Amino acid sequence: MRAAVFEYVKYMSVNDQPSAKLLEIRGGLIPEPGRVSSVDPEETTPWEQVSPRRIETAHWLRFEDYMREIFDAFGMNRDTPATKRSPERFLKALYDATAGYEGDPKLLTAFPTECRCDADCMLAQIIEGPISFYALCEHHALPFHGFANVGYVAHERIIGLSKLTRLVRLFARRFTVQERLGVQIADALAGIMEPHGVAVHLQAVHLCTQMRGVREEHSKTVTSVWRRGYTDNAELRREFLGEVRSRNPWA
Ligand SMILES: [Zn+2]
Ligand SMILES: [Zn+2]
Repeated sequence: MRAAVFEYVKYMSVNDQPSAKLLEIRGGLIPEPGRVSSVDPEETTPWEQVSPRRIETAHWLRFEDYMREIFDAFGMNRDTPATKRSPERFLKALYDATAGYEGDPKLLTAFPTECRCDADCMLAQIIEGPISFYALCEHHALPFHGFANVGYVAHERIIGLSKLTRLVRLFARRFTVQERLGVQIADALAGIMEPHGVAVHLQAVHLCTQMRGVREEHSKTVTSVWRRGYTDNAELRREFLGEVRSRNPWA
């Protein structure tokens, strides 16, 4: 089996930089309804922002009051310069971390490429990763984070490599579960590229189990999703998993 393996250059996220137009209200940072975006401002692509969420200012102010009440009740000393605005920051961070709802992967475009559908085409496996991601578990709204590796055997269409990273993060920046995340990435790629095969491997740590409850600090959750050619080709899967293993940042 011959594999075309391209090394993935880590995409540096600049999402912790304020990228949105913000309104100063009550000395706090309140996103202007419908104008906020937490995507990379250097490289904004329309499909990541097609459905901006509109949260009215009155609602934001009310949500901040809820957070103040909750933080107070749970024991935060909000009477310090550091914590005075924590309720606002918490809400804004949660809003940014769920920006994936604003995008539409169906608008992601693929480029035509040649496929002779001979043995070469069927065997040229592309593996991208590790792509880091941060998601919120929908059961606890606490983060799970880790690395995605994506493999595919292209047919007549390919997509830009940076779009793979964007696609992973579009689905990750939501309230979700790891299983669904892998399935969504695989199905989106299968739809966009109509490739000979797609493989998605995710490994993550879940803070909802690490920070509380059973406190399993070293346990990682691994999921694999196979589509098309990978489902009946054990050699392709073995090669993919071997490559993923060799790139494991946590190994
Ligand atoms: Zn959880
Ligand atoms: Zn083909």
